[in-house]
Amino acid sequence: MKHIMLDLETMGLRSNAAIVSIGACHFTADAIDPIDFHLPISLASCLEAGLTTDQSTIDWWAKQSVGARMSWQNAAAGSLLDVMGLFGQWLRSKGDPIAIWGNGAGFDPVLLDSVYKALEADPPWKYWNVYCFRTMKNIHKDVSAPPFLGEKHTALADAVHQAQHLQKILKLKGIQLP
Ligand SMILES: [Mg+2]
Repeated sequence: MKHIMLDLETMGLRSNAAIVSIGACHFTADAIDPIDFHLPISLASCLEAGLTTDQSTIDWWAKQSVGARMSWQNAAAGSLLDVMGLFGQWLRSKGDPIAIWGNGAGFDPVLLDSVYKALEADPPWKYWNVYCFRTMKNIHKDVSAPPFLGEKHTALADAVHQAQHLQKILKLKGIQLP
């Protein structure tokens, strides 16, 4: 099983929210693959595909650091279709089968499901291989988060931090990844 930790920066909290950045890393119980994924997505292309925004999330972004906002609000942002194509290529390069982890049973992988639906494509993972980091974190609250490296609320830094926190839980609790 190839374990992938995902983090999306979004423009809303609903399952069909626009996603403006994808960050992901491939990890094992004790290593993080340095060939990771981090790309911004143009908001216009998300809206064209029928994804939505929430005013509360737009207001929240206005209060975040310039570094976090610039990680997606920049001229390099590709179209939703192009970035999802590159994300699929990157995922395939990691092997098969893919286990996808997000921070919330109802969040990151669910939002990507909506994106694939909008693009009339299937997710490159089986629905039974979707895992929730938030569940692990909340069950094992006695395991503190490791130090955060990089800029919070940038998708890749968040994904790597989640993977490192999960690795710490696995190690301290003697849990093996499937
Ligand atoms: Mg994030």
